[in-house]
Amino acid sequence: MTALTTLKAFSKPLLANLQKLGISNVQALLLHLPMRYIDETRISPIRECRLGEVTQIEGEIVHQEVTYKPRKALLARIEDATGQLTLRFLHFYPSQIAQLKVGNQLRVMGEVRHGFFGFEMVHPNCKAVSARTVTAETLTPVYSTVAGVTQATLRKAINTALKVPHALQETLPVFIYEKSPTHLPSFAESLQALHYPAPDANLQALQDRATPHWRRLAFDELLAQQLSMRKHYVKRRSIDAPMCVASKKLVSALLKSLPFALTQAQQKVALEIERDLSQPHPMQRLLQGDVGSGKTIVACMAALQAIEANYQVALMAPTEILAEQHYKKMCTWLTPLNIKIAWLTGSQSKKDRENALSIIQDGSAQLIVGTHALFQEAVQFSKLGLAIIDEQHRFGVHQRLALRQKGHPEPHQLMMTATPIPRTLSMSYFADLDVSVIDELPPGRTPIVTKLVSDERRDEILQRVHDACALGNQAYWVCPLIEESEALQLQTANDTFAFMQATFPEMRVGLVHGKMKPAEKQAVMQAFSAGETQLLVATTVIEVGVDVPNASLMVIEHAERMGLSQLHQLRGRVGRGATKSTCILLYQTKAGNQLLSEMARARLKVIYESVDGFVIAQADLQLRGPGEFLGVRQSGMPMLKIADLERDVDLLNIAKANVDVLLQQHPQLVDAHLARWLGAASDLVKV
Ligand code: ADP
Ligand code: MG
Repeated sequence: MTALTTLKAFSKPLLANLQKLGISNVQALLLHLPMRYIDETRISPIRECRLGEVTQIEGEIVHQEVTYKPRKALLARIEDATGQLTLRFLHFYPSQIAQLKVGNQLRVMGEVRHGFFGFEMVHPNCKAVSARTVTAETLTPVYSTVAGVTQATLRKAINTALKVPHALQETLPVFIYEKSPTHLPSFAESLQALHYPAPDANLQALQDRATPHWRRLAFDELLAQQLSMRKHYVKRRSIDAPMCVASKKLVSALLKSLPFALTQAQQKVALEIERDLSQPHPMQRLLQGDVGSGKTIVACMAALQAIEANYQVALMAPTEILAEQHYKKMCTWLTPLNIKIAWLTGSQSKKDRENALSIIQDGSAQLIVGTHALFQEAVQFSKLGLAIIDEQHRFGVHQRLALRQKGHPEPHQLMMTATPIPRTLSMSYFADLDVSVIDELPPGRTPIVTKLVSDERRDEILQRVHDACALGNQAYWVCPLIEESEALQLQTANDTFAFMQATFPEMRVGLVHGKMKPAEKQAVMQAFSAGETQLLVATTVIEVGVDVPNASLMVIEHAERMGLSQLHQLRGRVGRGATKSTCILLYQTKAGNQLLSEMARARLKVIYESVDGFVIAQADLQLRGPGEFLGVRQSGMPMLKIADLERDVDLLNIAKANVDVLLQQHPQLVDAHLARWLGAASDLVKV
């Protein structure tokens, strides 16, 4: 990797500026690819200018004035043999007045618009024309940059980098990129073509990143990602882990005691996990299953296998409510089997905590359920064999790592999520994990009916909530998410609560929000669970995991503000019992003067039409990009910059198919490839 500091052509200030762009070596500079291209190869006759097109023209200034109506502007007319066009500047310097002096010959580039006097260009790029002015022979690349670095400087720097010996060295064997089905050009040719497009290059294809040269680089990027994940995966297979070969005695006893039989999907994933746990290397498996698909029982079966092999199991949940719910469930299922369960959260009394810590340390606690408190320093496991993490996307990379590091050898890890990960994402960003999917809901659930209702019909909905409660059902009223201000969100929840109490004095109303003390929260949830409260006014804290089967109506205010996956999770809080459930999405048709945006409309349509978590996740990915799914995971992983998972899925498949061959037969090329594409990030810990 050649540092730019070793090249004479780069001044100190330029180096500092490039650093701001994240560029410190030749490879990074070469991979700083154009955002777009402009066509300065042609000079169009003014008569042929077309509305909306960025066009280059050349001619003589025939008129100039500074007007003050409607506002100050510098206007000039430029003329060639075919016609005239207006140039308009709303901000300008004296130097521009001089440049646009009548009689001057100029070359001008800008977007053609309709103006008061026919076609015009606003703030076009102007260059004086002299006998030496040459016309560009190729499309001009435009790079992202920072203040102090002009396009010309960047182009020159990249040109220097292109000439550094070995900078364009091929890192792939020819059979991977040239032959079928890839059919891609070499790395050197591709970079050259993207920084200096050929004179006949197709502007549109370049802009769309659809040329073979762009595809080659997208392929390289995807391949680097796959290689690094595969390396990581293979490395994990060489580490020791607690082997938990189970006789299945405990699991059979548990299954016998359940009032239901496992679904096919549950059996399938349970088997996948069972196999992993009996291996001598650590499992890292992601268990995906829509809300209510029954992940908890599968996790419990895994726990029993580890416990039977004399290891401890940690079960961590992101919120106190959820952890408490898991704790209770585990007690119901496992106490009859004589399993000792400990409970650890940040909010318990000092005495309870010390007690828990001591039975965790001496090994008498076999299953430990808790929140973030589980991975804190004071917690010492005697023999941690399996770490189960519910709603894994709520935890950071380092938090999961901290929990894993509490076992020696490294414990197995089971991560669970109710946000289904679209296929292209699990093929790419999650390729280092094994994935199990529960793709079936337990029988007997009545599907949830979703209704989209304009906020103008709020009174009707209030009446409906009242009627449902009067009939003995329970309901949630979810207050809007107010991202800008937590205080405002809290106030809205308090106001709504007060309003409900005042409007329906005979109804028993509860309130739960994120700012409550854990004990208070628990008491409220407890009362709702037990049917003591009929209507629960809540902020989005109830999004994760809460299970109250008698709740069959949910109203979500300002649904248009929420993400699809979030709405889907919220909606999953109802429809958990036998009664037919309804979820009403109240939306604001107008916010201020703004009508509901296209995007918000599209989102609500998806959630209205589908109850399938995977379909919803796929739509969320298309509407909002991968950020939502990757969450904290991305902090440990570089994002794709060139490749587009939807567009380049064929390349992703080819990359995946070649990873093992490359690792086995071309380890040096692999190292060079990873160094080029991931640089320092290639040895980041991934968890
Ligand atoms: P999630 O996958 O959202 O965590 P849970 O594990 O909380 O779902 O399961 C939701 C509910 O379904 C629980 O009450 C659970 O006991 C129940 N359940 C789980 N598996 C089955 C099954 N095979 N048949 C019937 N009910 C089940
Ligand atoms: Mg759950």
